[in-house]
Amino acid sequence: MKSTSVKLADFKDSIFGVISRLAREHQAVNLGQGFPDFDGPDFMKDLVTKKMKEGHNQYAPFHGTPSLRTEVSNYYKSFYQLDYDPETQVSITVGATEAIYLVITALTNPGDEIVVLEPFYDSYVASIKMSGGVPVPVTMHAPDFHVDKAELEKAITPRTKMIILNNPHNPSGKVWTREELQMVCDIAEKNDLYILSDEVYEFLVFDEARHIPTATFAGMKERTITVSSAGKTFGLTGWKIGWICANPEISRVCRLVHQYVTFAVSTPMQEAVAEGLKKLPEYLPGFVSLYKGKRDFFYAEMKKLGFEFASPKGTYFMMVPISKKTNLNDVDYAMKLIKERKVATVPPSAFYLKSTEGAKFLRFCFAKKEETLTQAIANLSPEA
Ligand code: PMP
Ligand code: GLN
Repeated sequence: MKSTSVKLADFKDSIFGVISRLAREHQAVNLGQGFPDFDGPDFMKDLVTKKMKEGHNQYAPFHGTPSLRTEVSNYYKSFYQLDYDPETQVSITVGATEAIYLVITALTNPGDEIVVLEPFYDSYVASIKMSGGVPVPVTMHAPDFHVDKAELEKAITPRTKMIILNNPHNPSGKVWTREELQMVCDIAEKNDLYILSDEVYEFLVFDEARHIPTATFAGMKERTITVSSAGKTFGLTGWKIGWICANPEISRVCRLVHQYVTFAVSTPMQEAVAEGLKKLPEYLPGFVSLYKGKRDFFYAEMKKLGFEFASPKGTYFMMVPISKKTNLNDVDYAMKLIKERKVATVPPSAFYLKSTEGAKFLRFCFAKKEETLTQAIANLSPEA
């Protein structure tokens, strides 16, 4: 038989799938893959049923229903004072994952270099490789996961096309400050680079932290491609409704890829998300306080167990240092916890290409029912 594509030669099963499978096999409490183990809001489920009954069941326009593109445009305007024309600058995708694939595919020529800030969400590097691009890692250094300006500048070459930035950041839970973002924007502007800004956790921000979209920085809207999705915001990760906000030319080329990959996205889900986005002002305070409660509870319990780290300001993840607990690396310690303590976590070395810093952490997802978190803590406690 002829060979399969060399582009996939070093692809493996994603760490999320691997850990979820091991969690099932060993009946471990699963704090690995990032998704809530409780259901999303009833009003969203009622809306999708209503939309189906109203007959929104055939193909949607390929770049998204007018109602959803309009509501995405409306919330960028009302939350961030950003103007995106729903006709030419907002495109609907199958979750942020498709959006990331489209942006990278639409902009990358073979040999183009794309800077990925590690630890990174795994689909960035996979999408870059599928496009024949070259991922160039720059490490976000623990414990605060800052990017060193000189290191970022050094990674830029004449072949660099884009920097991928994730804010709020999975897996560290970091919410980027204005100064940190300005530094990356300045480098992008100076070197005429695009920024792909993955903001799927834009509303999961705690305490005094504030989410600042990259596109709001002076001069950045044209060169920033913002990606987000409804999955985290509504606690409905299985709905897979995402979007791209970008200038008309970039939107046009992303839509060209989209029309041949998925063509159109689920119609009733788009219609329901459009209605849901209208309710953000009433919905968000309860949503944020639900997750803040989970973060505070789990953080306090982890501290009691002797794990030392700063409480995350965003997302539903904690990057927990393990060196005081074990001499094992992240992968071996994660395996030990799954088998012996019945707790599944993600070993973050899967999110690095260059640095070995990931071997000193485990990622815990706290988007879980109180009983799930309590059980995980009980399993991890020394007397267990
Ligand atoms: N980006 C980041 C940083 C993520 O954590 C995820 C995973 N949920 C995605 C993108 C993909 O989002 P979606 O489920 O909407 O495809
Ligand atoms: N984004 C989720 C995480 O980081 C999982 C998404 C996936 O399974 N691909 O855990």
